[in-house]
Amino acid sequence: MIKMNPHYAKLNASYLFSTIAQKIEAFQAAHPDTDLIRLGIGDVTHGLAKPCVDAMKQAADEMGSDTGFRGYGPEQGYEFLRAAIAEHDFRSRGVEMSADEVFVSDGAKCDSGNFLDVLAADIQVGVPDPVYPVYVDTNVMSGRTGTYSDGRYEGLAYLEGTRENGFVPPPPSYHLDLIYLCFPNNPTGATATREQLSAWVAYAREHEALILFDAAYERFIRSPDVPHSIYEIDGARSCAVEIRSFSKTAGFTGTRCAFTVVPKEIEVSDGNGSVRSLHSLWNRRQSTKFNGVSYPIQRSAEAVYSPEGTHAVDSRIQYYMENASIIRERMERAGYAVTGGLDSPYIWVETGTDSWSFFDRLLNEAGVVITPGVGFGRMGEGFIRISAFNHREKVEEAMERIVRAL
Ligand code: PLP
Repeated sequence: MIKMNPHYAKLNASYLFSTIAQKIEAFQAAHPDTDLIRLGIGDVTHGLAKPCVDAMKQAADEMGSDTGFRGYGPEQGYEFLRAAIAEHDFRSRGVEMSADEVFVSDGAKCDSGNFLDVLAADIQVGVPDPVYPVYVDTNVMSGRTGTYSDGRYEGLAYLEGTRENGFVPPPPSYHLDLIYLCFPNNPTGATATREQLSAWVAYAREHEALILFDAAYERFIRSPDVPHSIYEIDGARSCAVEIRSFSKTAGFTGTRCAFTVVPKEIEVSDGNGSVRSLHSLWNRRQSTKFNGVSYPIQRSAEAVYSPEGTHAVDSRIQYYMENASIIRERMERAGYAVTGGLDSPYIWVETGTDSWSFFDRLLNEAGVVITPGVGFGRMGEGFIRISAFNHREKVEEAMERIVRAL
């Protein structure tokens, strides 16, 4: 019999979303008339902006003619999109970036997992806790951890986010080779200051480590002094890869388009005393294992940067952020300590009880679904994540019900 990848056997079965689904099912069976409101899922609720849809349609029409047809595109993404990203997301903010350092992909989730392909198996990896679970599970799958016990994998370093450090773990006193940072953060909604990111860049340079910086929620930043990119920090171009996505920015969760930036300065060791370019390795990986994002989707993503696209995307984000401030304000008024919701669509609430009891209480007494913090790691126990992705009436109604129930 063919043998499975043995590392998959180590994976802790994530009961988070299946347990939530079971609890919802039981609740609905018992209360068929209650209109359940879901503030748990990290998916957007508004349709694609019109300029993005128009660009997609026009590109589909082009594909229908022999002259406009495009077959396999460049694995790294079309030049028109790479150039728009480098210009609007980076150079316009004073950050040096060339179009060929941008690799267009079908998701930040895939990129964060795939990136492990180009790194050695025996590196020391640090992940945040609470964590976006993909960082952990992809390391398990690729054999970079030992077994799971007591909520953690042997061999991984957990960088603990607490209320005291504002859910921005500082660099540790020990050595790491690869560090995952995510700001604005999922699930805590925390953002890192320039000083905090500078400390991480200094650490990475001192330890010759690599930072994988997930900026999937960059577009939600409202505060003028919060960095949007790790490359706003001096020295980051030699030690950091940045991943971004159109998913939450422009509602591309189902459409699929994202990108990873690999500056040409980053060097990695070949283990035999020579150095190689990380940019070349990633290019090689993508050219071999990926055939690019479809032309209509890349045209649609390009439309995000047109004046009409920018306006439409900004107004959707503003809408979600108004939801976030309603959630934040109501929970604070009800006496709870909250993080996030200022520069991110997630609000992280300290519950005073364990996460699941609070989940049950909100489900059974308010008919509202949130996400228990413990599902994001041991440090998430005692917290819940409330998502701002929903329609205003639902958010208002959910918060009224929650406040009444509490
Ligand atoms: N990174 C973070 C932190 C996320 O929360 C998510 C989605 O929830 C992703 C990446 C996935 O992005 P994409 O839809 O581009 O795969």
